[in-house]
Amino acid sequence: MSTQFNRPTIVVGAQWGDEGKGKLVDLLAKDFDIVGRFNGGNNAGHTIIYRGEQCKLHTIPSGVFQRKKLVITQGAVFDPEVLLTEIEFLQKHRIPLDLLIDYRVHLVMPYHKLMDGASEARKGKRAAGSVKVGIGFCYEDRNNRAGIRVEDLLYPMILKEKIAALFPLKKAILEKVYGVRVTFSETELYERLIFFSKILKKYIGDASTILRKNVGKKKILFEGAMATMLDSSFGTYPYTVANNTLVSSLFISAGIRPCPLHVLGVIKAYTTRVGHGPFPTEQQNEQGKTLQQYGREVAATSGRIRRCGWLDLPIIRYAHSLNRFSALAITKLDVLSVFDTIPVCVSYQVGKKVISEFPAITHDYARCVPIYIYMKGWKKDISKVRTFKELPAEAKAYVRFIQHSLSVPLKFISVGAERNATIIL
Ligand code: GDP
Repeated sequence: MSTQFNRPTIVVGAQWGDEGKGKLVDLLAKDFDIVGRFNGGNNAGHTIIYRGEQCKLHTIPSGVFQRKKLVITQGAVFDPEVLLTEIEFLQKHRIPLDLLIDYRVHLVMPYHKLMDGASEARKGKRAAGSVKVGIGFCYEDRNNRAGIRVEDLLYPMILKEKIAALFPLKKAILEKVYGVRVTFSETELYERLIFFSKILKKYIGDASTILRKNVGKKKILFEGAMATMLDSSFGTYPYTVANNTLVSSLFISAGIRPCPLHVLGVIKAYTTRVGHGPFPTEQQNEQGKTLQQYGREVAATSGRIRRCGWLDLPIIRYAHSLNRFSALAITKLDVLSVFDTIPVCVSYQVGKKVISEFPAITHDYARCVPIYIYMKGWKKDISKVRTFKELPAEAKAYVRFIQHSLSVPLKFISVGAERNATIIL
């Protein structure tokens, strides 16, 4: 793919995440020089099968198993504790790590995690469905200029001053507003960060400048964490993440100039989402349970069961109109092999109106009743199929229907979790 396009490639999810982007990045990375992570934190998780073992990455870009140069850019945030666990995992498996973390990346602090848990508990039924790892609060501090950045790890005195200014306020908010006891002291927090700085020092640098110098010269692959419908502005707000996830956010998040991109839109063959929020095609019935069971729909980060339903084409069209896909990957097609009939939502009924676009108002989306067409199932195991020709006619019709409704070339069909369980068109 990269040989066709001398421009950065970006992999973006068309739904609410968990489309199987990690597997695709792992597959694609072999043709690239640099693989970058530019958004989200360890609220995102990619599952990759490496030598038969399931590996969950929350921070390190999925290109690591192809031993590529990896960058984490300023739009992302990370929890040093989680990064350390991933580094240890790689060391244990003797997988070399060539990682560069931008100076400007923000750190998730222990108080962010406490605030996340406490605030979700307070919101009760109106909780955003956060995985409580502190990402939203980290972004809040970043935007309010009260964050700790990776650069601070290199300057202990500045780090100390910053913590001295921030910690008493965070502690007071946690204890006096949320009623949560803070069990660590300011000194302990500082010392833990100094401990991390010693390990992470060698990975820190100006990733943004390096990327800018290499756009158009080296083959760069960016993996989008989360997905379109979780975008903090254009997704199903407030049931979203705290940062932008759209392709257009790449430029500011990676610190590169706007330039033509190759955009691989990843569409799961049905729909899932974790946590709260409207989901018109959700199947709270046996069919939903079957999708959950065959698709092993358990979130990589939280271990929560994903809500499951049929494909929702209006959101896919919306994702395409926001991101302008250059090519498509349809994943988890194998999961649909058990159904006689596969409904696909093509438009919505809202009161007396029929609409085929995702509505701009989240409350309207909650009122949408799906209008389905019914595709014939193929009822055959397709997990060993490796060429388009070998697919049953009904499976071909299903993927072609998705492709034709967007008029975008279909490049990958994923029929299993392993790297090679992929049909390349
Ligand atoms: P990501 O966040 O988009 O990278 O997706 P996740 O890794 O969180 O979730 C996707 C899950 O589906 C993982 O457990 C993958 O191993 C698995 N997976 C990916 N592609 C396929 C596929 O085509 N078929 C099946 N059955 N599983 C897949």
